Amino acid sequence: MNDSAHVSHDAAHDAAGRGPIDEVLLAEPRGFCAGVDRAIEIVERALKRFGAPIYVRHEIVHNTYVVNDLKAKGAIFIEDLAEVPPGATLVFSAHGVSKAVRSEAAQRGFQVFDATCPLVTKVHVEVAKLAREGYEFVMIGHKGHPEVEGTMGQLTEGIYLVEEVADVAQVQPRGSKLAVVTQTTLSVDDAAEILAAVKARFPHVREPKKQDICYATQNRQDAVKVLAPAVDVVVVVGSPTSSNSNRLRELAERLGTPAYMVDCAEDLQPGWFQGLGHGARVGLTAGASAPDILVQHVITRLRELGAVAVRQVQGVTEDVHFPLPRGLGDRSMNEAAAAAATAATAATAATAAVDPARS
Ligand code: SF4
Repeated sequence: MNDSAHVSHDAAHDAAGRGPIDEVLLAEPRGFCAGVDRAIEIVERALKRFGAPIYVRHEIVHNTYVVNDLKAKGAIFIEDLAEVPPGATLVFSAHGVSKAVRSEAAQRGFQVFDATCPLVTKVHVEVAKLAREGYEFVMIGHKGHPEVEGTMGQLTEGIYLVEEVADVAQVQPRGSKLAVVTQTTLSVDDAAEILAAVKARFPHVREPKKQDICYATQNRQDAVKVLAPAVDVVVVVGSPTSSNSNRLRELAERLGTPAYMVDCAEDLQPGWFQGLGHGARVGLTAGASAPDILVQHVITRLRELGAVAVRQVQGVTEDVHFPLPRGLGDRSMNEAAAAAATAATAATAATAAVDPARS
């Protein structure tokens, strides 16, 4: 380790100027998923095309930085459609909306762009299709989460929320046809346990062909399963309202590694890394709604606290893109090529910034 790399004399450093953190390990994948990327782009394009203000029902994604950035650009976030003036442009958040919200927006005559993640829409479509075939539903999810309200709100009755195994005993379907759906951002392991309890009580329950928990949630949890055992502390970048970020922190703790969630670099507390001893490693990941700039800020802060090296753990490479809604233009070939070139340049710069001895 090169001690001359330490320039900060933060309180977290010892008399020799060494901080308690040796190495930062970055989970891969981490941060933005395709649904979040698309949702933010929809608001930004709507602002460019129609001008401010653009109304957005609920936080477009659950991240404070993203929401504040869009507010500064002219987005107005609302919960109740009564707050939206006639003729305005309205965007539904990535979490999706109930049928009642959708029809109220249509009745009020807003120009609507739907930023519901296509993977949430897939669940809505499945619920509607099976309901027409006479199915009732067990929904595994968290009460009050907007995605759960949106999915449950595809029906007016016959969908029963189950948050934990104990809730399964309370489900009283009226008919014999029962299907199960889940929130997309759950703990994969918790959902499997609850699903097992549902199947034990209702052996003929119909499961989705492909699980509803999305690829991004699954991949980020898989990455934490690799990361957490290799580090002393895990830091998750994500806002308190972000379901998938909370699940990452919980998962790391379940694997026996102390874990903390931060909304921004200023939330990092040096005390989390005290007493770890030299050679300590910090694992860093980010929820699907947390932008990379926040991860970079946290890395900078960890370097101030003494981190010498930053290394990316190998993981799955994601290549998922969702098209934009009609009326906002699609990502043209030129734009896609420009984005790929920018990403390649950024990746090269990031690699150069990583300690060559550890990369
Ligand atoms: S976390 Fe999954 S469901 Fe949610 S926006 Fe991202 S890809 Fe879509």
